[in-house]
Amino acid sequence: MLFETGDEVTPGLLAGETLADVAARARRCRACPLYADNTQTVFGHGPPDARLMLIGEAPGEQEDRQGIPFVGPAGQLLDQALAEAGLARERLYVTNIVKHRPWVLQGTRRKNRPPRVSEIRACRPWLDAELALLRPQIVLCLGAPAAREILGKEFKLTQQRGQWFQTPQVPHVLATLHPAYVLIQPPESLEAARATLFADIAEVARRYRALAL
Ligand code: SF4
Repeated sequence: MLFETGDEVTPGLLAGETLADVAARARRCRACPLYADNTQTVFGHGPPDARLMLIGEAPGEQEDRQGIPFVGPAGQLLDQALAEAGLARERLYVTNIVKHRPWVLQGTRRKNRPPRVSEIRACRPWLDAELALLRPQIVLCLGAPAAREILGKEFKLTQQRGQWFQTPQVPHVLATLHPAYVLIQPPESLEAARATLFADIAEVARRYRALAL
C-alpha cells in the first residue's frame, strides 16, 4: 500500500487523485538528486482531457525558470511545427520523462545534460500517472529517450521515427526528432532535420483529425 509520511512524496498516482493532485504532490518530489539546485518541478502542462500527449526528455533553463515544459528555444520550434500542422497547443498535453532539469556546470554556466537512467527510473511513476489519468489516444515522443520509455529499449529513432506504433496503453504512438536536437544541427543538415520534425508533426495532425479528437 502506498502512503506518505511527513514531507516524503511517493512518486506516482495515488488512489482517487486527479491530475492537479498529482502535479501538486510532484512539486515536493525528492525521489532523485535532480530536485536539488533547481528552481522547481516542471510537471506536464495542458488540459486534463487532452487526447494528444507530447513527451520530451527533460526541462531546460527556461522551463526550470517558468515551470512549464517546452517554453525555451526548443519549445518555440515545437510551437512553429504545431502551428504549421494546425494543432492548437492549448488543446495538447506536453510533458517530459524527467520533471527536473538535469544540468552540469561548465565554467560558470549550467549546461543541460541528458538525464541518467537512474533519474529516468525514479521519475517514471510521474509519467505513468500522467498516462493513466489522461489516457491519450495519441502520444508523440520527442527524441529517442522518450521513445524508448514508451516503445521499449530496442526502439531505434534513426530507423523507426515517423512510423505508427501501438502499445497496450496507447493506440497511436509516433516518435520524431527532439526539437533541441534539430537546433544543434550544423548549417548543412539543419533544414533537413527541421523538415523531418515538421513532416512528422504534420503526420500526427493528420491522424489527430482522422480520429476526430
Ligand atoms: S526529476 Fe522526477 S524523480 Fe527526480 S526529484 Fe524531480 S520529480 Fe522527483
